[in-house]
Formats: sequence, C-alpha cells, structure tokens
Amino acid sequence: MAILNVVDVSKIYQSGTRSLTVLDQVNLHIEAGDSLAIVGPSGSGKTTLLGLCAGLDQASTGSVQLNGHRLEKLTEDERAALRSQEIGFIFQNFQLLPTLTALENVMVPLELRKKKHVRQKAIELLEKVGLGDRASHYPTQLSGGEQQRVSIARAFANEPKILFADEPTGNLDTETGEMVEDLIFDLNKASGTTLVLVTHDADLAAKTNRIVHIKGGKIQENQHA
Ligand code: ADP
Repeated sequence: MAILNVVDVSKIYQSGTRSLTVLDQVNLHIEAGDSLAIVGPSGSGKTTLLGLCAGLDQASTGSVQLNGHRLEKLTEDERAALRSQEIGFIFQNFQLLPTLTALENVMVPLELRKKKHVRQKAIELLEKVGLGDRASHYPTQLSGGEQQRVSIARAFANEPKILFADEPTGNLDTETGEMVEDLIFDLNKASGTTLVLVTHDADLAAKTNRIVHIKGGKIQENQHA
C-alpha cells in the first residue's frame, strides 16, 4: 500500500517579479515500510520536496497524498494535527524547544496526543535513545548528538507511520552520526516505519532501499539492491 503519493507536483517560489521553479511536475510513490533517500546538489529542492511531503508547506500545483489524506484539501490546522499524529520529523538543527528540558521536549507530542502516563513514556523513550540520565538537561546543556537523539525520541513519541529526516546527521561527527543512523533504521526495520530522508552523505543514502536524485526540478531514481 502506498503511504505517500506525490502526483505531478510543482513548487514555484515567487520573490518580487521573479519566480523560481524548484520542482517541476514531480511524481513519487512510496510504499509503507520502505526507506528512501532524496539526494542532489545544494539548492536543488530536496528540503522543499520533503516539506511538501510532510505537509509543512503546500505545492503550487499537483497533489500529495499521505496515508490516505490529500494534503492540499486540508486546512492548516488539519495538516498540523496530521503532523502531530502520524508523522515524525527530524531536522539537521534538531529544533528542540530551548525553554524545555529533554524530558519535556519528548512529552510535548505525547501530551498533544492526549496519551496517558506521559512522563513515564517520555522517560522510556529517552532511555531507548540512551539518554535516561539527561532528562532534566536543557538543549543548550546537551551536545549536538544528544540533542539529535532527544529529537529522535520526540519523533518516536508520535509512533509515526512515516519518519521524515532532513540531513539528520549533517551536524554530527561520524561516530555520533552512526548512532543516530542506527536509531532511525532500527525504527524502520523493527516497527515498519516508512523512512524518507534528505542527505548529502552517499554512505547514508546507500543504506536506504531507494535513492532519488533531484536535478533541474526533476527527479530520477536509481534502483539498488
Ligand atoms: P536543498 O534542500 O536541495 O538545498 P531547498 O529546497 O532548500 O534546496 O531550496 C531550493 C531552492 O529554492 C533554492 O534556490 C532556495 O533558495 C529556494 N527557496 C527555498 N525556500 C524558499 C522560499 N521560502 N522562498 C523563496 N525561495 C526559496
């Protein structure tokens, strides 16, 4: 079953009188449980495509169907609800809330989803990413790798059907990056969470089932084993 279907999607940014076509009639079909990397030169539209797929932004034309929802038919509030209920998102710069502790950051999506035993669940998630002893630390008191692991615990709290990751290891050293990669791919393999990631890192891209290249607003796919 397709969890994500991108149909004839274009994205045109307007600035003043100039318009920039970043995506030009792109099609992409992703099966539930699959893993896919989006690669391409800087400025080619990778982050734009990921944002459209995750409902963070809207296509200029075309349709994005995510887990049965046509994103362009939803209101902004409905897209926000979908993001907090069915999607996990990991950013290169972590995007933790700076005024909340690690534990509180992980508790936010659990509270939004009106889960019970929120604190206990958040502790378990922090333990899963090896940060049980950092629960009361604020983001500025954590290393980059630790912040990224908190953001992974926060994404896992959604029990997402699909996880989007934008350069998830881009700001991390090799060793920490590998730990983060293991956590993301474990979720894909153990829980069947679909994984869509943007990366510059060929080694990371090679770990996914599918690699899609963006160039000149179009996508091309390399199938590999
Ligand atoms: P990548 O992730 O491949 O580096 P992006 O998707 O971030 O590429 O950006 C693609 C192009 O779109 C770039 O030229 C960028 O400057 C432009 N762009 C991205 N976001 C906006 C925006 N909100 N308004 C105008 N132009 C944008």
